Amino acid sequence: MLAAVLYGQEDLRLEQIAEPTPAAGEVVIRVVTATTCGTDLKVWRRGGHAKMLKPPTLFGHEAAGQIVALGDGVTGWQVGDRVVANNSAPCMGCFFCRKQEYSLCPNLTFNNGTFAQYQKIPAPIVQHNLLSIPVGMPDALAAMTEPLACVLHGTSRANVKPGDRVVILGDGAIGLMFVAALSLGYGVGTTGEAADFELAPLGSNPSVEVIMLGGSDSRLAVAAALGATQTFNYRQVADVPALVKSLTDGWGADVVIEATGVPSAWELAIACTRPGATVNLFGGCPRDTTITVNTEQLHYSELTLKGVFHSTPLHVRQALKLLASRALPLERLISDQRPLKDLEQAFCDMRDRSVIKVAIVP
Ligand SMILES: [Zn+2]
Ligand SMILES: [Zn+2]
Repeated sequence: MLAAVLYGQEDLRLEQIAEPTPAAGEVVIRVVTATTCGTDLKVWRRGGHAKMLKPPTLFGHEAAGQIVALGDGVTGWQVGDRVVANNSAPCMGCFFCRKQEYSLCPNLTFNNGTFAQYQKIPAPIVQHNLLSIPVGMPDALAAMTEPLACVLHGTSRANVKPGDRVVILGDGAIGLMFVAALSLGYGVGTTGEAADFELAPLGSNPSVEVIMLGGSDSRLAVAAALGATQTFNYRQVADVPALVKSLTDGWGADVVIEATGVPSAWELAIACTRPGATVNLFGGCPRDTTITVNTEQLHYSELTLKGVFHSTPLHVRQALKLLASRALPLERLISDQRPLKDLEQAFCDMRDRSVIKVAIVP
């Protein structure tokens, strides 16, 4: 079969490799649609990832597929079932899993390789994070379950309350998903516990003001269409914290969500807050980078700085359900559909920011 293999920094090769066969507990899917992701772009540019993978490796982690083979002992699934297999699953037995802090599981099983004709799904993912795609749901939409699950995990930990003014830094797919979810009230008013996150938004008007700062006018237009109250191109703003203060009665934002993975943007996120604010540091930065935090601001302004990573099985389920409900028009994030052979060009276009996400059809 044809599969993309990542060898290192911007070294992605399409190769003919053996089709996978499932061991006990595993399934093999035919990849119907795989979506490109900002994380993939980051990994491609950096040549690796702290948690997800080590080159050389199969590549890609968002897909909708169809089961073509079942390993011994797999029950509840049939050949032909349309599925989303999340890119990871927690072990369910460790210290963190017993506390239901699944994103902190040190034994997360990661799976990469959606940019291929077939993909093997490891047993822990079959057990805990393999979901059936509802009838009639487009594959490309189902493929976005993984990033939306991360975003729903992010909103559940962002401490956004009705009436809040939320600043989102970064107009990538993740930042735009935060805009869509928060504008409709998903995750608003939760206390941070995954269990109390309800799919129903808080009424028709959660009255959350979402202010998006990004670097691309066309993406900012998408943000506005997804519900952002105001959008700004940071390239045209001399002083971002001053702008945010001017939009928030001089105080700063109630919540800032950083979705770029750039250390200077983490510092900028903190600079945009009001006293008592929560900062959700969502974009993972390059290895061994540090930021500077003003101790006086952190202490006397009682800031909450939260790192938020990945997702949980509950959020994976909520994401697929939410996508299937069509409440969020996230198909707007898919700029284009292309064959697998054009994958590298898709990454070049993502790097140049001429596309948001590309649906790859192997
Ligand atoms: Zn992703
Ligand atoms: Zn665990």
